[in-house]
Amino acid sequence: HNQTLPIVIIGTGLSGYTLARELRKLDTETPLVLITADDGRSYSKPMLSNGFAKGKTADELAQADADTQAQALNARIMTHTRVEGIDPEAGRITTDAGTLDYGRLILAWGANPIRIPLEGDGMDALYQVNDLTDYGHFREGVAGARRVVILGAGLIGCEFANDLINGGFEVEVVAPDPRVLPALLPEAASEAVRAGLEEAGVRFHLQHSASAVHRTSEGVIVTLDDGRMIEADLGVAAVGLQPRTELADAAGIECGRGIRVNQYLETSAPGVYALGDCAEVCGHVLPYVMPLMAAARALAKSLTGERTPVHYGSMPVTVKTPACPVAVCPPPADADGEWHVEGEGRSLRVLFRSENGDLLGFAVTGDCAGEKQSLSKEVPAILP
Ligand code: FAD
Repeated sequence: HNQTLPIVIIGTGLSGYTLARELRKLDTETPLVLITADDGRSYSKPMLSNGFAKGKTADELAQADADTQAQALNARIMTHTRVEGIDPEAGRITTDAGTLDYGRLILAWGANPIRIPLEGDGMDALYQVNDLTDYGHFREGVAGARRVVILGAGLIGCEFANDLINGGFEVEVVAPDPRVLPALLPEAASEAVRAGLEEAGVRFHLQHSASAVHRTSEGVIVTLDDGRMIEADLGVAAVGLQPRTELADAAGIECGRGIRVNQYLETSAPGVYALGDCAEVCGHVLPYVMPLMAAARALAKSLTGERTPVHYGSMPVTVKTPACPVAVCPPPADADGEWHVEGEGRSLRVLFRSENGDLLGFAVTGDCAGEKQSLSKEVPAILP
């Protein structure tokens, strides 16, 4: 790679900014450019789904603006600039503000909220909250609302449901799965979380998908697959995220579920790396903060001359549902073993053990949620 050309990071989310910070701890001089489609304010994305509990507006969640960040990082930050193409052969990217040559390129451009195709004229009326700008619009929209309908009962749907209940709203959740957090939790833990949220006042319509959404003078009407209608002042879609792979794919960079990288965060194109929500690291798509932090630390070393693999230990995911706290370390997808449930009511310890008794995964809920640290020491590392 050409040392005189800048290191270019696309994205100023937690991945982009954490990498830039780690890089600057090791090298204060190499020209550094960050490009972002948004305004470049730094913020902690997990805070978007407990904004009511914490009483924070979008502006209050912003930790620093792009100018402040640029100064602190000795970097150039191009805001409101969208990357439109990559030419790995030429070492050049195309943006809506012109082209830029890079020495090394890091893709940290996150994931897109999935849009489910629904009938009706109300699709645009559904909020999707995946960045600080979205959150600002959502907070404006929800001011004065009373009833909120959420599509999706995964991590983000459940966290928003709990937060909005805390904020004094009436909350209904629609999801096709028979239980909440189906991709993350074993059944007993799902039931504990659902019971906790229901007791707090959330109404679930599980095993029903939305088939249509229409605008009304007051808000939206969501029609379920059995014809029932849910009226609300506001709708939120939280049906999942999809790593942004399109531009990488178009550039001939290998993609699977995410942009494929090896343990050194290297894509199939020389000099191009990826981390965070857009990346698939050795087969793992882990759209959480802990993995991106570990990746940023390793990649900063590699970019400054010491080629370093990323290691993921066990990394419990904590779901921010205070109505029933829950933390989970899912077992590996291909693991052989069984779930065992201990505890009662909403305080459960659900353990996934192999035939010879090794702990391969767990979920802890309610009063047991605090055991996540000690249990996660027992489960195997995700990426040794
Ligand atoms: P993003 O933050 O999405 O950043 C992407 C950046 O790329 C943005 O700056 C964007 O403008 C830019 N970009 C995209 N496309 C382009 C383009 N073409 N050109 C230029 N710029 C572009 N994780 C946890 O571990 N714990 C939690 O409690 C938790 N809670 C969450 C709650 C919510 C509501 C959400 C949505 C996520 C939560 N997560 C949580 C996940 C965690 O926040 C993410 O894994 C993390 O923030 C991803 O950061 P990122 O930098 O990879 O992506």
